[in-house]
Amino acid sequence: MNLAHNLTYTARTHPARPAVRLDDHALTYEELEELCARVAGWLRHNGHVPGDRIGLMLPNVPEFAALAYGVLRAGCIVVPMNPLFKEREVAYYLRDSGSKTLFAWHQVAQPAGDGARQAGAELVLVDENFAELMSSAAAAREVVERDDHDTAVILYTSGTTGEPKGAELTHANLVRNVEVTQALFSITADDVVFGGLPMFHVFGFTCALNTAIRVGAAVTLVPRFEPARVLKVLHRDHVTIFEGVPTMYAALLHDPGRRTHDVSALRLCVSGGAALPVEVLRGFEREFGCMILEGYGLSETSPVVSFNHPDRVRKPGSIGTPVSGVEMRLVDEQGTEARPGEIGEIVVRGHNIMKSYWRRADATAAAIRDGWFHTGDLARVDADGYFFIVDRKKDLIIRGGYNVYPRELEEVFHEHPAVAEVAVFGVPHPELGEEVAAAVVLKPGATARADELRDYLKAQVAAYKYPRLVQLVETLPKGPTGKLLKRELRISASVSKPAARS
Ligand code: AMP
Repeated sequence: MNLAHNLTYTARTHPARPAVRLDDHALTYEELEELCARVAGWLRHNGHVPGDRIGLMLPNVPEFAALAYGVLRAGCIVVPMNPLFKEREVAYYLRDSGSKTLFAWHQVAQPAGDGARQAGAELVLVDENFAELMSSAAAAREVVERDDHDTAVILYTSGTTGEPKGAELTHANLVRNVEVTQALFSITADDVVFGGLPMFHVFGFTCALNTAIRVGAAVTLVPRFEPARVLKVLHRDHVTIFEGVPTMYAALLHDPGRRTHDVSALRLCVSGGAALPVEVLRGFEREFGCMILEGYGLSETSPVVSFNHPDRVRKPGSIGTPVSGVEMRLVDEQGTEARPGEIGEIVVRGHNIMKSYWRRADATAAAIRDGWFHTGDLARVDADGYFFIVDRKKDLIIRGGYNVYPRELEEVFHEHPAVAEVAVFGVPHPELGEEVAAAVVLKPGATARADELRDYLKAQVAAYKYPRLVQLVETLPKGPTGKLLKRELRISASVSKPAARS
């Protein structure tokens, strides 16, 4: 199971089909394979040996795919990095992974160059003339063989807590997860996959890029998620599969241009990475005429753990049931199985669990116990075996001794007609320990006062949990995949005075 063969196989079966495209710049599978062979040849010529880590700092451009597969073909390990990183983050990733070469997009030359210098790594700048640059060495026609359990990719986890750790995903982890995704989506060479999730993150990397490459589908890339541009791309390229995080669905749903584009080619929408509010799911399906299936996963699980399987009943608000070859259980703090109906932490076992955290034996031992990976996500399971995420363990708010789950309140906020996006989070409180706060973005043109929204919540939920502090904001802080960064909200809320309190 060598992930590099994903491409060599497709380049033979579908050479002339488009593989990756960014507006007018497209590569067929044959061209992608050729470029990737040059990358592998270049790496070998420049002294890289199998097992070397190679940093990639690129936005969603076709060259990302060529580099990732070129690195794999040479038997090296891909270390994807966010192109928005500043110098110190670049240096940290390179040092921590021990990467001696960094390929970076020309537009991020400055932070990439400064970071690489700090870490003592060589910088190779990538631009539209990349193919020429790589032709200085003989192309590597053969894939360097690897064992199933050799590391293919080191993916640094979101890093919303502590310093980022590198999840080592093996060839087997990724190949099996690609097979699972392929079957769940029934994806074929006729599909056009939306590539708006960042390819440096596990969701975009496995479920969009690698799965499309396996079957010969086309990936249409979008470097930054701007709803107006995305709607155009969906129309222009007749996109059939859309994969996104919930904030993308909310943004498309509320975009004023949503009805002026023809998106009728869409046959499947997939949501993951964060909880999809049921109101957003319903609104999107109504407007766009395409069903959204929600799944659940993490960087450490390659990523897919569970899914609302297309051949079973779909339950809005649920992350579905475990995918083939994967087991899920709910446990309490002591590791004892939660009783039916009780909330517990999701633990996972199966082919998708990472090998380890790169050079962090302690963190690995804390996360993987008796073969079960501890996710830090709290959930309950219904009588049919469907899991419902309640919240992340670290986002749970404890107000005056009561557990308050932000997700529950966020769902209620979304039922208010003026609300486009919302984040509920805890802020320190001298007597209660924590107080419940909410930051709300209104829909374009909608009006609602902060105290009105607070009263709306107060009327719907128990007195101990409605948010006393409600702030109207222009935007919510989001990470690279579009996930809400609650930690940043907690920090800014504790230094600024909220707009409304009771
Ligand atoms: P990452 O490693 O960046 O992919 O983040 C993984 C985390 O995203 C998980 O631990 C969950 O907290 C969250 N997550 C992923 N999918 C879902 C989902 N469908 N519903 C709720 N949270 C999710």
